[in-house]
Amino acid sequence: MYQHPLLNRDKMSPQEALDILVEGNHRFTNNLSANKDMLSLVHMTKDRQHPFASVLSCSDSRAPVEILFDQALGDIFSVRLAGNIASDKCIGSLEFSAKYLGSKLMVVLGHTDCGAVKAACDNFREGHIGEIINLIRPAVRMETTTSEKRDSSNFSFVDKVCALNVQVQINEIIHSSDIIQDMLAAKQIGMVGGVYNLATGTVSFLPDTVML
Ligand SMILES: [Zn+2]
Repeated sequence: MYQHPLLNRDKMSPQEALDILVEGNHRFTNNLSANKDMLSLVHMTKDRQHPFASVLSCSDSRAPVEILFDQALGDIFSVRLAGNIASDKCIGSLEFSAKYLGSKLMVVLGHTDCGAVKAACDNFREGHIGEIINLIRPAVRMETTTSEKRDSSNFSFVDKVCALNVQVQINEIIHSSDIIQDMLAAKQIGMVGGVYNLATGTVSFLPDTVML
């Protein structure tokens, strides 16, 4: 069931926030989107916001988080950058959402067939795109199970790098942010990584990344 923003969110646990996202993605994949009166939500949220989750995801036009989690205005603090990379400014945005807006859960969401991940697999370096790829490169190095065809033509390799990239960006967030580290340690927030499947609409959360 859809819950209006600003209501009952102070007491929500990170696990409950994750449950809402899981249920929302289930509605999305079953074409059962909850009824949401967007205009009344505009009025309800006009003076303040209290998102229950923050999502760092890719800018890919096929992966808009509010739609794929079936959420509405005021629900998700959305940080999007190609390759869902945790640049300093992204981490600052996530810190703000947790510390000052009360978001309970941080999600780093990769997706299948990601152009930025594929560019990293192909060692692309051109222009400012190269700066994005530099932050994904550690995930390519971490993928040691593939010895041949280590490029974007190998779908299995790309999938593995995609999942590793989610882990790399989570590590970067935790490593660089005292604010987020402290809030995780105090269990004020949770963190989880996931991968959105462009072909099925399904989000798979990665068990190794769960911190609740
Ligand atoms: Zn992408």
